[in-house]
Order: sequence, then C-alpha cells, then structure tokens
Amino acid sequence: MPPQIRRLAETTVNRIAAGEVIERPAAAVKELVENALDAGAKRIEVILAGGGIERIEIIDDGCGIAAEQLALAIERHATSKLADEALVRITTLGFRGEALPSIGAAAKLTLISRPAEQDSAYRINVSGGAVSEVAPAPGVTGTRAIVEDLFYATPARRKFLRSPRAEAAERTVWRLALAAPHVAFRLVSGERVLFDLPAQTEAARVSALFGRETAASLLPLEAEREDVQLTGLIGPASLSRATMGLQSFVVNGRPVQDPMLRLSLRLAYRDVMQAGRHAVAALRLTLPEEALDVNVHPAKTELRFADANGIRSLVIGAITRTLERPVSLALAPAAA
Ligand code: ADP
Ligand code: MG
Repeated sequence: MPPQIRRLAETTVNRIAAGEVIERPAAAVKELVENALDAGAKRIEVILAGGGIERIEIIDDGCGIAAEQLALAIERHATSKLADEALVRITTLGFRGEALPSIGAAAKLTLISRPAEQDSAYRINVSGGAVSEVAPAPGVTGTRAIVEDLFYATPARRKFLRSPRAEAAERTVWRLALAAPHVAFRLVSGERVLFDLPAQTEAARVSALFGRETAASLLPLEAEREDVQLTGLIGPASLSRATMGLQSFVVNGRPVQDPMLRLSLRLAYRDVMQAGRHAVAALRLTLPEEALDVNVHPAKTELRFADANGIRSLVIGAITRTLERPVSLALAPAAA
C-alpha cells in the first residue's frame, strides 16, 4: 500500500513557509520595514536587540491597519496590495501576504495599529501560530510591530543562529534607508543609535550612510535607454574598498542584491581597478514594472529583467563614460 497523502495543518504550513521567507533575523526586519514603506510611512524607527533574535521593534507612522482587519493581516496569503492578480505590474514592496503569518509562526509577534480615523489603537498577538483576540491598546497613528524570540517555535532553525551577527539586520535597514531617502529613518541596535536621519535628498542620504568624506568624491551619473533610467553616484577608481560594503542597487524603489548588477559594476571598473578591490556606488534603476519580474524568490532580493543585456550595457556604458569624463560635481558638504 502506498503511504497516505494528507493535508498539513495550517500551523505546520506556516512554519515551513517561515523557513523560506524568514531565513534570518535580517529577513524579518526587511519584511517589516517594507510593510512600513508600503504603508506610506514618513518616519520609520527600528530597534533591535540581540541582532534581531531577541527582539525587533518597528514603529511607523503609516496608514495603519483597521481593528477589524488585524486578524486578516496575519493570515496566510492575505494582502491589501495585490490589485494585479496577473503579477505583471507590482508596485509595492510586498505582495505575497506571507511575511506576517511566517513571522507569527516562528516567533512571538505583536501588532499594535491605529489608522488615523480610528479612535484608539488595537493589538493582536501571534505566538508560534496561536492567535490572540484583538483588544484595544494605547498607541498613536501608525503601526508598531514587535517580534520576540525569533525561531523559538522552530528550534532547528534557532540552533543555527545561536550567535546572531547583528550586522546583517543592521545592513538590511541601511539598504532600505538608502532606497527611501524621502523617509526619515532611525536605527537603534543593542542600545546604540546607528543612525537617525531626517527625510532628505538622495545625495544627502548617501552622504550620511556612506560617510561624508567618501561621498564628497563621488561622481554623479545619469543615463537612459528606451524606458529605463539610471541615476546614481559612483566612486572614482581611486576610491576602492576591500569589500562590497559600499555598493547599493535600488530597482524601482526596491533595494536588491542582484548578481547581474554586481557583475556589471565589476566589469565597468575592470580595467581601472585592481583585482580584489571593489568600487563604491549607489545606483538606482527605474523601469516599467512589466519589464521586471520581482516574483523570483520569496525574499524578493533577486530580480529578473526582461532585457538583462540591455540593462547591463546601460550600467557599464554609463559608468565607463562617467569615469572617463568625470563631471566635477562633487557633493558640496552643504548637501549633507
Ligand atoms: P504583504 O506585505 O505581502 O501584503 P504581509 O504579511 O507583510 O503581506 O502583510 C499583510 C497585510 O497587513 C498587508 O497587505 C497590509 O495590508 C497589512 N500591513 C502589514 N504591515 C503593515 C504596516 N506596517 N502598516 C499598515 N499595514 C500593514
Ligand atoms: Mg509585507
């Protein structure tokens, strides 16, 4: 007799999904900050303890979640964002409706939220998949998400993360802050305020997060090819680094770590930079959503471009031209 096939319990399904969506504390931080950005927040505060394993708290002043929708928000495949069920034109950072249920399956998640038009805030707790009643709670307009004891409900995963490196979660916020300079960002990790930035221009944000001195020698870059726009700031070849730490790619507002873009950057500097050194660059691409597939990986950090070759030559061409004829438009200190 073949083995019986049966449906898995919802909590088990969510735990399995949690393993894909929330690989590390940094992934939970990313999902929650993306939710805040999608909610139209003007200010986002992130407070981490124990590298995010012990506690992640994200406070935003966005649109909030209505009391009667809180229970739905933490249900699997429930989203307010996917107007386009064909997945062709995705304009929000989230769309899968998986982050909150996944976090709630792996950790203790509290959401406290209040839309501006609601008299008070309401809260809901999910712990290892068990959901509490929705109850009134003190709170201002916006949403506060608190994640405690990440992976306590999935001990196999927790074991791998016994000594979490706070850096990964911090870097994630750093990348998101670069992608959204128009939003004020504050990051606290283990009691240390890592940054506290007002809404600012892109150049000022790059300066704040790359360091003023580095930013002062960056060269502005701008290029266009059909309906793709490329803008950004790149370092001269003399400004090389031992790591890729000062490289940022933003595609349609999403911070990405795309291998093709990284490679394009490396190729553009190949002839002017020593092997093993890495360029400094903050690049932003804007293209029609339908020329892009963001639905490649649950964590959404990789993309598929319809015209990858075109993008690669746009990036390489623009960098090469900028390095050959640097416009001496270095950021004035006043930009910071
Ligand atoms: P997704 O972001 O893919 O829609 P999530 O599980 O991350 O899925 O969130 C589910 C829903 O909860 C969102 O679609 C949104 O309506 C609501 N939500 C989550 N976080 C926030 C927030 N910070 N502010 C307002 N609404 C939120
Ligand atoms: Mg989301």
